[in-house]
Amino acid sequence: MKLPLSLLNPNMSSGSGSLIWFRKGLRIHDNPALEYAARGSTCVYPLFVIDPHYMEPDPNAFSPGSTLAGINRIRFLLDSLADLDSSLKKLGSRLLVLKGEPGEVLIRCLNEWGVKKLCFEYDTDPYYQALDNKVKNRASAAGIEVFSPVSHTLFNPADIIEKNGGRPPLTYQSFLKLAGEPSWACSPLSVELSSIPPVGNVGRCEILQVPTLKELGYVEEDQDEFTPFRGGESEALKRLRETLSDKEWVANFEKPKGDPSAYIKPATTVLSPYLKFGCLSSRYFYQCLKDVYKNVKRHTSPPVSLVGQLLWREFFYTAAFGTPNFDKMKGNKICKQIPWNDDDKLLAAWREARTGFPWIDAIMVQLRKWGWIHHLARHSVACFLTRGDLFVHWEKGRDVFERLLIDSDWAINNGNWLWLSCSSFFYQECLLFQQYNRIYSPVSFGRKYDPNGNYIRYFLPMLKDMPKEYIYEPWTAPLSVQTKAKCIIGKDYPKPVVSHDSASKECKKRMGEAYALNQRLNGVVSEEELRKLRRKFDEGDEEQEPKPKRLRQKLTD
Ligand code: FAD
Repeated sequence: MKLPLSLLNPNMSSGSGSLIWFRKGLRIHDNPALEYAARGSTCVYPLFVIDPHYMEPDPNAFSPGSTLAGINRIRFLLDSLADLDSSLKKLGSRLLVLKGEPGEVLIRCLNEWGVKKLCFEYDTDPYYQALDNKVKNRASAAGIEVFSPVSHTLFNPADIIEKNGGRPPLTYQSFLKLAGEPSWACSPLSVELSSIPPVGNVGRCEILQVPTLKELGYVEEDQDEFTPFRGGESEALKRLRETLSDKEWVANFEKPKGDPSAYIKPATTVLSPYLKFGCLSSRYFYQCLKDVYKNVKRHTSPPVSLVGQLLWREFFYTAAFGTPNFDKMKGNKICKQIPWNDDDKLLAAWREARTGFPWIDAIMVQLRKWGWIHHLARHSVACFLTRGDLFVHWEKGRDVFERLLIDSDWAINNGNWLWLSCSSFFYQECLLFQQYNRIYSPVSFGRKYDPNGNYIRYFLPMLKDMPKEYIYEPWTAPLSVQTKAKCIIGKDYPKPVVSHDSASKECKKRMGEAYALNQRLNGVVSEEELRKLRRKFDEGDEEQEPKPKRLRQKLTD
């Protein structure tokens, strides 16, 4: 079906069919767009458009997957679509899968199917803001009713921003004060649908089944291990039920307590990928948590409780929605201007788990293989790449996470990278307490949780026989120990790319100078000022330790 956009027929709204356009929100429960589409319609077209750019293999990408997403996330999405199709079939419908540029395909379908109502979940991501405005304008001009409710988040970020005089709140506490309880908190959410009107005539459209990875052109052997987390609403609700069944655990949940090295049974819920794709409604999750709290004597509170975690999600969604250029350093008013390195070799060593610090490398292997890592593991590697050791730009690390995470979320990922690199949100605190001086040690932080290094042994099998005294610093093991453990450092596993002590000291110094510059210029730092500071850092490097540079030792020997 290849009709040009201009063929959208402005007089065609005589049918009583509705179209529900699935993007995220891949669920039946608490799905107001689906419910509205079903109400009073003779037929409903449940549509998902496969965007080749997002889904089809890109052989030039740095890991198996498409141009935009790693293979684990694509598989998670396919699982979710298959599960949605199966649930729709139980309700007398099915998922209509089409392929192409989503906006164009959608507009063609509206035209071809004579749809009267177009329903889709409101989305605050910049990509969808632009796409949805285009689609809404076209549909409205053709007399089609558009219904686009906020149901991905607990609050409408626009409401919070309006309450705050047009600006997003930039501290969690001020966010909490403004947000209060969600308006729907005490009303029952619609969690079940008994039936959906049948799919109407699809005309000349070529409808596909939900494809497999293979049908999309992937070779499964490209990835040596897949994520253990399978996608879909059914999995999400099962995982939620299991989580909620341990009421004590839910009531006492306290982050950042929890073991980032726990991989057999992770220390947090692992509901993030399901929230990301909307296989789980955040509102339903919130109500379930509140029900547990009602039935226990005491429970933890935000920011550390599980409800508190959901509110962190809201906080970042609101900040992201209300901040132009939120995903960049330049042109982003809430981001400190810092002359980060553009060292692609250090970046590649980090991305490919070759830093020589087993704690960091094991996390990066888990990220690549599983697409999910614990929150404090994210802290460790993000701090190491940026202000802790390598001084590489946070945008580069953000890109790696964006590709590899199965829960990759535009607002949350950017928000946390801004935070971890001390580029934003710590703004006030950073000046007062010099937050950037608090660095996660790539050696002792992991050891605190897992002294035997079981996590490292699992994700870095070349170190599996290294005695526990050396597992976090294998380069300090005598050669005889390395030989016995069948792991020679520099051959079977890399030497560290930096000396943590001197690199972290240098990073703190640089952060201090960059902060002082931002303060002196009231946050308006020109390109020239940044270049000058970068030159000063580079010259300092050469004066004090000409070769190799202090921030980089030889990557391999
Ligand atoms: P739980 O602790 O069980 O929390 C429940 C839910 O609360 C999560 O599923 C998530 O939706 C939300 N939540 C928890 N922590 C945060 C947080 N700090 N910020 C916002 N929401 C939170 N999370 C993503 O969902 N997508 C990302 O792309 C992402 N990128 C991150 C990048 C960095 C550098 C860091 C430090 C954190 C990032 N996080 C991201 C936040 C957090 O690490 C994950 O949400 C969490 O680890 C997911 O595991 P969970 O579902 O078991 O969390």
